[in-house]
Amino acid sequence: MIGLLRRLFRRARPDGLPPPPLIALAGVSRAFDDGAIVALKSVDLAVHAGECVAILGPSGSGKSSIVNLLSGIDRPTGGRVLWNGQWIKSRRAWARLRRREIGIVFQEFNLLPTLTACENVEIALMGRGIAADERRELAQAALVRMGLAQRMEHVPHALSGGERQRVAIARAIVNAPRLLLADEPTGNLDSANREIVADLLFNLQRDGGMTMVLVTHDEDLAARCRRCVRMRDGKIIDDTTPALLPIVEEPATEQAATVVAEKATAAADAAIPPAIDETPLAGIEPPIAEATAAIARAAAPMTEAAE
Ligand code: ADP
Ligand code: MG
Repeated sequence: MIGLLRRLFRRARPDGLPPPPLIALAGVSRAFDDGAIVALKSVDLAVHAGECVAILGPSGSGKSSIVNLLSGIDRPTGGRVLWNGQWIKSRRAWARLRRREIGIVFQEFNLLPTLTACENVEIALMGRGIAADERRELAQAALVRMGLAQRMEHVPHALSGGERQRVAIARAIVNAPRLLLADEPTGNLDSANREIVADLLFNLQRDGGMTMVLVTHDEDLAARCRRCVRMRDGKIIDDTTPALLPIVEEPATEQAATVVAEKATAAADAAIPPAIDETPLAGIEPPIAEATAAIARAAAPMTEAAE
């Protein structure tokens, strides 16, 4: 509690207001099958920059639904998802955030099977105007950071589970995202690899000052996070550091003045007619559409099928 107050105070803006959370769910619900299934029930969750948050809960309690909403892969049936205090509405704005600000690691790795480790990481850099040589260098540097210098030209099936997950982490962090979302990242690994992958994630979070939201069943892993959020039946039933202030949406103009990335997003969104806004991702972003859509499908197969 005191830690959070200190953090809020330290980040106070000249106007005296604390900064908005980096990402927040404000009264978010997610229902399926015309309301027959309710995955999330009016959830409020504010995550501030630099936080390391574990999300725990039994299977079916809504953890992956939260990750899918925090990444914009899925959209709520009620409430708002705010990035830096601003309501993000369009697929295109979410795609842009995933390209530059949000990295995602899934339990199933979700690597493209026909591409090498290096190519899988390079995909995350496409559509950003980065030259091919530089893309390769950045991807290689990320893989070296994950201890995979000797595995760059291997395709996923030639790699162990732990190595595949490290490639997936390299892909998630190669853009130096501000938010790293990890949905049971160690769930498919043996105990030795669980430890290696967990250490890598926590080191990345600590050294880069990155914000991390980590879904896990593993209490030991959760205990390494400063904050633990527990879910049951689509609700948060416990939060060691809940938001003290109401989650408010900031005026778009103020946000545009303070966050360069959002300024670009808002301008681009304003130029998109609604009909195009709803165009499937594949039509908007040819270079990374295949990969992003494949990852989204693999992460939320039921969601895709339901829509
Ligand atoms: P967790 O990750 O905690 O196991 P999920 O967020 O995946 O839980 O799911 C929460 C609830 O929503 C579960 O009851 C699940 O069956 C349901 N659910 C998730 N996605 C869909 C979908 N596309 N269609 C129907 N029900 C879904
Ligand atoms: Mg899940």
